[in-house]
Amino acid sequence: MASVIVDKKDEKIIHLIRPDVQKAQAYHEPPARGLIKLDAMESPYTWPAYLRGEWLEELQGVTLNRYPDPQSTELKARLRQVFDIPAGLEMMVANGSDELIQIINLAMNGSGNKIMAAEPTFSMFQMIATYVGMEFVGVPLREKDFSLNMPLMLKAIAEHKPAVIYLAYPNNPSGNLFTEEEIVQLLEATNSLIVIDESYHAYSGVSMMGLMERYDNLLIMRSLSKIGLAGLRLGYLVGHAKWMAQIDKLRLPFNVNVLTQFTVEFALNYYDVILEQVDQIRRDRTWVAENIRRLKGIEVFPSEANFILFRVGEGRGDRVDSRLRNKGILLKNLNYNSPQLHDCLRVTIGKPSENVAFLSALTSSL
Ligand SMILES: *Cc1c(COP(=O)(O)O)cnc(C)c1O
Repeated sequence: MASVIVDKKDEKIIHLIRPDVQKAQAYHEPPARGLIKLDAMESPYTWPAYLRGEWLEELQGVTLNRYPDPQSTELKARLRQVFDIPAGLEMMVANGSDELIQIINLAMNGSGNKIMAAEPTFSMFQMIATYVGMEFVGVPLREKDFSLNMPLMLKAIAEHKPAVIYLAYPNNPSGNLFTEEEIVQLLEATNSLIVIDESYHAYSGVSMMGLMERYDNLLIMRSLSKIGLAGLRLGYLVGHAKWMAQIDKLRLPFNVNVLTQFTVEFALNYYDVILEQVDQIRRDRTWVAENIRRLKGIEVFPSEANFILFRVGEGRGDRVDSRLRNKGILLKNLNYNSPQLHDCLRVTIGKPSENVAFLSALTSSL
């Protein structure tokens, strides 16, 4: 990733842009043109033709000259129904979980407040902490299976007193779930806000929503990005009213546009179609994992999400990744992300034909 060097003579940039921003690297998406794209946990499936037709038909009634409903009232009601959100809890919607993380951090920013997460994890936790000028504390997960290192977590909580702790459940890029007992132990150990990121909820089939009854310093965050709607950008946050009322003040009033509000509501009317696609992907995940595991010298990590993390032979990660790319397959190479991920690649489950192409390319790339 090439970082842009600030021209030393450009005084305005040097004086006006925050120093940490000048040093930061821009988010980078690799070019995917012509490749089988298995790098970003997108669903490979679109809607069947009859649904697309109906959607286009109904789209004609959407008014573009008016601002969207600032509260996304109908959309939230629909989300509440489809995802069984308990009536006593508040909801907030935003442009993906990314925007939710940004809003939460903005609300907690100041007086030296820090953000904590267990690493390796979703890179936006650290990036958005940095964007809003907060210190980020990463606590390593256990090397063997990416489970929480509880003694380290508790020690870091006591030492740093983070304002927010983000935990992805299941975690990205490892794909595993933490245990409920561990999460309860963390909730008991701190007054910090703990945000459980359940972006892969549809694939894991489990949730920490039930803990809301007993703990008020808990927020559940979910996204529709991984179940076929990445292009719409929609995430939702669930929590107790007293937290949500504060955090919601930082959300820009018309953040979710009319096309997204309308289209997500439409899609949720056909959630059974989405669930069929999810089931297919879950079955294919098992099949792909079994087939990678058959190959010599590869370690496959169990996944509850729509991707699989695997490790190839020592020192061979980059080579395998570039060979795969030459064969037309785009994966996420995590070799550089952290020492815990040496020689690790992450593959998103695609359509059956894409999975076959990936496995055959992998077999000949080792
Ligand atoms: C993909 C992913 C997200 C999704 O972010 P959106 O902004 O909703 O697309 C959030 N958290 C984790 C852990 C992810 O892997």
